[in-house]
Amino acid sequence: MTLKYTAVSEFPQIIEKLENTFSKNLTKPINYRKKQLERLYNLLDENEQEICDALYKDLHKHKTESLLGEINVIKQDCLDAIEHLDEWASPEYVKVGVAFKLNRCHIRKDPVGLVLIIGAWNYPVYLVLLPLVGAIAAGCTAIIKPSELAMYTATIIDALLPKYLDQEAYKCINGGVTEVTELLKYKFDHIFYTGSGAVGKKIMLAASNYLTPVTLELGGKSPAILDDNINFSVTAKRLIWAKSFNSGQTCIAPDYILCTKKTQEALLKEIPKVLRDQFGNDIQKSPDYARIINHRHFDRLVKLLEQTKGNIVIGGKTDRNDLFIEPTFVENVLKDDKLMEDEIFGPIFPIVIVENIKEAVKFINEKDFPLSLYPFSNDNDTIKFILDNTRSGGVTVNDCLIHATVPTLPFGGIGASGTGSYHGRKSFEIFTHERSVLKSPFFSEKLLERRYAPYNELNYKI
Ligand code: NAD
Repeated sequence: MTLKYTAVSEFPQIIEKLENTFSKNLTKPINYRKKQLERLYNLLDENEQEICDALYKDLHKHKTESLLGEINVIKQDCLDAIEHLDEWASPEYVKVGVAFKLNRCHIRKDPVGLVLIIGAWNYPVYLVLLPLVGAIAAGCTAIIKPSELAMYTATIIDALLPKYLDQEAYKCINGGVTEVTELLKYKFDHIFYTGSGAVGKKIMLAASNYLTPVTLELGGKSPAILDDNINFSVTAKRLIWAKSFNSGQTCIAPDYILCTKKTQEALLKEIPKVLRDQFGNDIQKSPDYARIINHRHFDRLVKLLEQTKGNIVIGGKTDRNDLFIEPTFVENVLKDDKLMEDEIFGPIFPIVIVENIKEAVKFINEKDFPLSLYPFSNDNDTIKFILDNTRSGGVTVNDCLIHATVPTLPFGGIGASGTGSYHGRKSFEIFTHERSVLKSPFFSEKLLERRYAPYNELNYKI
């Protein structure tokens, strides 16, 4: 199977068409937006099995993971947007001081225009269609560019989109680096990018040519900090779930663990049972465990296991033909270990020993701000200390990942883990320009006389 790329020669026509559609105000009526959101919902609902099959072919994703981690989240967001769109899109009248009492002041919620949405391969449906919900809700036209690495999914998205959504307003472009590089030569009104920080810099640079605003949803090393007083069996279950969901290829997967030596021992004791409970005796045979996306990423992860100076205590089995890597725990990993350089983005869990929580916080602060932070503790003061003294995109306390599933919580990074946030209303806001409008009546002229020259500054004393 090869993915059919969109010809670069078609780009000018596509872009011109979507710009025209926007200029004609076709995507702005609220009823039009709601209808398109309904159709996007139907696209996911009526083709659920085909989409899950594509995700299985790309990532060996179990249907439950495809529903929980991709399809259901987007459907829910469509429903939320349909329900709240009238309120989100209605003009906001603001209070004004005495000096402006004769004016009408309000904020219009205008769509920004034509937007470009570029997705990554690990959640290949979610990462293009979830931002698209925001773009449609805001009244924009949009191009989505799914990741070429999840080629079955990119193919089905390209096939389904025109069957459900208005082709004059929304378009899927397929391709790789060449196509994105070409696309970035055009002027968009917003670029929404999900992927690595290295490419994020290129996107930001290209966007700066037109001063186009960007949302960058990037990654990073998200730490789990374990206090000594926790419930180890529950913690083990939650950590394994979060690290093996999509085989650790989740931007907010816990990347590494920080804890004391005593806690490391207590945790590791629980792990084999949890792994058996969740995946049986032979994890490779479990239908619930995903695979690594391709050989390049597989080789990268295996190399990390070969290079680590830590001790592989649990797991370690790999199979290149099957792109399988067992959930693998590496104990006593040191600061300067290869595993501690870049985001792991796979089912390898290094444990770094620290003396106490204060040292854990210091360790985190010596790195880039992570996308997520996972403190596990029974002590509220400890949790507060960690939150007060670190920065991260988001936080789940005593669990992992789930803050990202709450539509009313903004999702995004800080610093190297990204800029801007979305989900729910925030997605609408990303693609909306808050346009301030003041309407002045002609009859107020008498009161305005003082602002004209010749000036008399005494009149302006407050
Ligand atoms: P990827 O290889 O699929 O790349 C992402 C997109 O960028 C693709 O559409 C691709 O075509 C394009 N691209 C790749 N190289 C390019 C280049 N040189 N020039 C222009 N465009 C290019 O995905 P990836 O980068 O491997 O994604 C993994 C990263 O994404 C991880 O760091 C992960 O944490 C992060 N991520 C973040 C989120 C989030 O919501 N914050 C979600 C998923 C993944």
